[in-house]
Amino acid sequence: MNRTEIYLDHAATTPVDPRVLEAMLPYFSQKYGNPSSIYAAGREARAALDQARARIARLLNCQAREIVFTSGGTESDNLALKGVAWWHRLHGRGNHIITTAFEHHAVLHSAHYLEKFGFEVTYVRPGSDGIVRVEEIEAAIRPDTILISVMYANNEIGTIQPIAEIGRLARERGITFHTDAVQAAGALSLDVTELNVDLLSLSAHKFYAPKGVGLLYVRRETPILWQQQGGAQESNRRAGTENVAGIVGMATALELAYAELEERNAHVQRLRDRLIDGLLSRIPGTRLNGDRERRLPNNVNVSFEGIDGETVLLNLDMHGIAASSGSACTTGSTEPSHVLLSIGLHPDLVRGSIRLTLGKDNTEDEIDRTLDVLEESIIRLRRLATARAR
Ligand code: PLP
Repeated sequence: MNRTEIYLDHAATTPVDPRVLEAMLPYFSQKYGNPSSIYAAGREARAALDQARARIARLLNCQAREIVFTSGGTESDNLALKGVAWWHRLHGRGNHIITTAFEHHAVLHSAHYLEKFGFEVTYVRPGSDGIVRVEEIEAAIRPDTILISVMYANNEIGTIQPIAEIGRLARERGITFHTDAVQAAGALSLDVTELNVDLLSLSAHKFYAPKGVGLLYVRRETPILWQQQGGAQESNRRAGTENVAGIVGMATALELAYAELEERNAHVQRLRDRLIDGLLSRIPGTRLNGDRERRLPNNVNVSFEGIDGETVLLNLDMHGIAASSGSACTTGSTEPSHVLLSIGLHPDLVRGSIRLTLGKDNTEDEIDRTLDVLEESIIRLRRLATARAR
């Protein structure tokens, strides 16, 4: 098997930063106590957990007790949607949820699940630029709307949504507002007060911390029915022994991301623009998906006319370059991207799309090498297709 030498799939996951790993290591075999135990080793783990919560709360500009640690973005999204929906079912108030057609499946499939129990869901479509309009959300609001869930930045096309404005609208109308901020973390502000959100999902493995740990910010007094029963962990809100090492890693990674935010964003944005400009100028029939300006600084999503994206990805892999055709969770499925379809892209262009997401350790040389490989592969694939058609 060949090795990945150039990693351009940071929206799927990121490597653990060595500084994050170092902060985590003591919590595996030295400070291994259970934070619920009353003796010294337990208290030591509890202190690490409390400190991590306080450190993260500072970055989110919220109170420490408003943070619930989870196993990642999927659990946080499920908890947000189902928790709010079931609270309202229990208290007999409201039945309608608004979300968008291009959410991550953790939100979309939670919404589909709730529909099976009689909840009604409106899926607002983004514009062709990949941005959801506040007016469209407003038009979807009904007297029985209980929850609005709109992602902060899209995981396939990187487009950034007007979260603070939608949050203001939701607050005016007394509707709970959730944002899936999994892709925004480490690139955009996570100040929950400025964003006007009640619930916000994060996943550590998207910002150089390990997989399997995340959090849900839950603003005080948000109506929510907790979904995981068992022990009294997380103040009776999410049962299960806490992933102490992972949580310490997440706090460290988040602090590093925001301490180095400008530098990291400037770096990936420079590489992103070099990649986009190179693709558009060197490969005819290339189209950038999603608004060019209002997108994450590390996201490139393009369609190549007359080309199958999966074949391009295989070609890249043969050259040791890792990229994807959309979200990691749907890779391998034959379903075309619901995100690209939702912005009205022609199914042929949806099939011809690839996503390249850059990270803090990528270099200009890697971008140039990727451009060379892509140009060569696409010209060759088109030539083959023409020869076959003859
Ligand atoms: N939400 C978004 C926008 C994502 O991109 C992802 C992961 O790709 C998730 C949720 C799921 O997060 P996790 O992998 O931690 O379950």
